[in-house]
Amino acid sequence: MVFELNETITPQIDCTSCGNCCKSLLINVTETEADALSLHLNQTRKDFDNQYLEKSGNMMLMNAIPCTFLRNDICTVYENRFAGCREFPAMHLPDFNKRLFTTFMHYNRCLIIYNIVEELKVMTGFKR
Ligand code: SF4
Ligand code: SF4
Repeated sequence: MVFELNETITPQIDCTSCGNCCKSLLINVTETEADALSLHLNQTRKDFDNQYLEKSGNMMLMNAIPCTFLRNDICTVYENRFAGCREFPAMHLPDFNKRLFTTFMHYNRCLIIYNIVEELKVMTGFKR
C-alpha cells in the first residue's frame, strides 16, 4: 500500500517549494561522498571538512542546519547530494513498518509522508 501511494503521491509534490528536509535535518556524510563533493567543489578534503563537516567518532555530519548547499530552496549540489538526501523520505524502501518511529517524526515536516499517512488512514478504515 505504501509503495502504491508513494508512486501516486510523490510526483504530485513539488519539493522545490518545500525544502523542509534540507532546512531541518542533520545530514550524514560518508567518506566517499565527502571525496566526491570536495572534488566537485574543487576543494581539498581538508578544506571541505573544515568548512562543512562536524565529526564525532566515526560519524560525519553536515555542520549547518539548514544545509549550506540549499539556496533559494534549491540544492546547489544536486548531482552530488548525499545518500540520505536521495533516500528521504524513504517511502520507496522496504520495511516501512520497521521505520514507523522515524516516519512519524517527519510527519509534520514532509508533505509526502503526511499525504501517504493520511491516505493510509482512509485505506485502513482508521479515518472516514
Ligand atoms: S545536500 Fe542538497 S539535498 Fe542534501 S540537504 Fe543539502 S541542500 Fe538538501
Ligand atoms: S520534506 Fe518531503 S516534501 Fe519537503 S522537500 Fe523534503 S522530501 Fe520533499
